[in-house]
Amino acid sequence: MDPMEQDMMQVENSKYTLNEEQENKEIVRHYRALLRSLRPKIKKGDKELLRTAFEMATNAHKTMRRKSGEPYIFHPIAVAMICVDEIGLGVRSTICALLHDTVEDTDITLDDIKSEFGNEIAKIVDGLTKISTVMSANSSQQAENFKKILLTLTDDPRVILIKLADRLHNMRTLDSMKQEKQLKIASETIWVYSPLAHRMGLYSIKTELEDLSMKFLEPDTYREIAKKLSETKRERTKYINEFVRPLKDKLIQSGFDFEIYGRPKSIHSIWNKIKKKGVSFEEVYDLFAIRVILDVPLEMEKEVCWKVYSLITDEYLPSPERLRDWLSNPKSNGYEALHTTVMGPQGKWVEVQIRTKRMNEIAEKGLAAHFKYKEGTQTEDRFDKWFVQIREALSNQQEEGIDFLQDFKTSFLAEEIYVYTPKGDVKMLPINSTALDFAFNIHSVIGSKCIGAKVNHKLVPLGHKLRSGDQIEIITSNKQKPNEDWLSIVVTAKAKNSIKDSLREEKKIISEEGKYTLQRKLEGIGAVYNPYNVDQVMNFYKLHSQLDLLYKIATKNIDLKELKTFQVLGDKIEVPKPVNVPTEINHETHAAKSPSKKDAELIIFGESSDQIKYALAKCCNPIPGDDVFGFVSTGKGLIIHRTTCPNATQLLANYGHRVVKTKWAKNKEISFLTGLSIIGLDDVGVVNKITSIISGELKINIAALTIESKEGLFQGTIKVYVHDKEELETLVDRIKSLNGIQQVNRFDTETV
Ligand code: MN
Repeated sequence: MDPMEQDMMQVENSKYTLNEEQENKEIVRHYRALLRSLRPKIKKGDKELLRTAFEMATNAHKTMRRKSGEPYIFHPIAVAMICVDEIGLGVRSTICALLHDTVEDTDITLDDIKSEFGNEIAKIVDGLTKISTVMSANSSQQAENFKKILLTLTDDPRVILIKLADRLHNMRTLDSMKQEKQLKIASETIWVYSPLAHRMGLYSIKTELEDLSMKFLEPDTYREIAKKLSETKRERTKYINEFVRPLKDKLIQSGFDFEIYGRPKSIHSIWNKIKKKGVSFEEVYDLFAIRVILDVPLEMEKEVCWKVYSLITDEYLPSPERLRDWLSNPKSNGYEALHTTVMGPQGKWVEVQIRTKRMNEIAEKGLAAHFKYKEGTQTEDRFDKWFVQIREALSNQQEEGIDFLQDFKTSFLAEEIYVYTPKGDVKMLPINSTALDFAFNIHSVIGSKCIGAKVNHKLVPLGHKLRSGDQIEIITSNKQKPNEDWLSIVVTAKAKNSIKDSLREEKKIISEEGKYTLQRKLEGIGAVYNPYNVDQVMNFYKLHSQLDLLYKIATKNIDLKELKTFQVLGDKIEVPKPVNVPTEINHETHAAKSPSKKDAELIIFGESSDQIKYALAKCCNPIPGDDVFGFVSTGKGLIIHRTTCPNATQLLANYGHRVVKTKWAKNKEISFLTGLSIIGLDDVGVVNKITSIISGELKINIAALTIESKEGLFQGTIKVYVHDKEELETLVDRIKSLNGIQQVNRFDTETV
């Protein structure tokens, strides 16, 4: 099981009060409910198999309980229920879900499962066991482990579907965990599992995973948006009814068999909009979408969807930029629909999604529903292609874990665009792909020789970003070869891997010279060139490979002057005391200088609370009162980040073991530098008003102030010294209350 599940579990001692008999009844009740859901899929003989699996799992987990106190078996049953109800999986997957934690945590072996249920089920359970073992092996290796997960995924997609159900249930029951664990698990979920659910086409599960993660990572914002959503519900319902009424009439008149309703967007997606567009909740126009679901035979789907589109746009004017046709070009995760945004009553933009019942089921349940309908569609093909691509990328094992994860996310989990070759063949690429990505997608040789491209007959550079519908012709030259800069203009794993391969080849050739130089210098101090000595030199310069060392010597980045300080003992050399050699840069080296080390404003739990060296992260400039966590960085001590820091998710997900829970102590003596950006209507004297509030009324020190005016609007940035979040909030409220001020936002990063 996951390391998290170990925490969710206690053995035997518990405060759970139900007696055994009642408890067993409860277990059987849950199991019966599972059978009822599965009924339409149960064939002859299945019932006995299910019963065996249920009994096997119940017996095996008999003495185990979850953190909440309930018997452990509730978890596998709940996971199976999600597989059936929410993913649409069948009998075999249900059996696997029931057994998913047995091999890992109980005496049951894979052979037991094989002899009872056969090879297919044993293989899936094995996959599930491997996933949890790799996940718990060492949390610093999450990214590397993720790679292994994907290797399993390519064997049988059901492994990943059941794993997602497992994660979903664990997220649903995350409340009983400790806070540090909650943060780590929620981050991991948002970083890996929800994109994966999206890619598998499981929209509902993806949305729920996102919302649940946000609930733990951003509790205040989450609650605030939820509250505002419920407060505005009545108003919204009224508007939706008004919007839908004329459409309903038209659809009925035209004789369509349909359903039409308004659907609220998820809290997480609303929050994303607020962040991305820098607007307030009130300004997010698409808090909901209208969905039209049509019941039509397969062969008439496209025609009917477009008819309905035309009928809707007769009533409301569509925005030409916001038409998405996923009927003709379904997404690779199988999603099909027609989306448009129209101008509704009161001049509000409203998104309308048109799909058929079949498309809707695929959108909700993803892959499994798609298997059900696979005859007659091309989506099967797209999945296969996707898996083939993953396999190709995975077969290149040289990537570092984290790099790999990032590449993987951009290559395979992102949305894709469709572009065309000069002959009209369609190629699918991740969003933000460039002409160079396209070249490598055709063939690595074409990529390596690429000097430019013609996009829609116009000449463009290698880094030109492609858009759906572009037709691309690649221009090559035999004199061309890949260089380091290319890595920053491609996004696909395939292109990156090819470029790295050729750079490595090139490096090998150049480093031959470095080898010669090193040999000479070693002989100069009376030592010999042997693997041991080369390793010593490599370690001395803090490099990770001999190739790097030889390459740096060849390119004169290392002059070997320090070699004179080495001691020679026989055929071995000994390293002197280390001198300062530049080491590689980590994320956390952007840390700010600690304002004053002697004052400990932080209580650090689980460690002695006084005199801990820490620094405030430059990337998010935390101030007292912010929700923060500590990150143990190599050589830099503890770095304090805000939980909303743009780097937080990545740090929490990948280095959970280095995260320390931290909290501010009250301290009024020290002030912290923070920044605000202000947008408002240009008004004479606005600067005076703002400064008089800050330094006059609130007695806050200003470090810097810039105001820029343009076309009746002004934009200002102020840097101020505040003591804590409360003081900052008072300041923000006061400025907001001024006439003409539209927005006051805190900077998140030093780059603003
Ligand atoms: Mn589990």
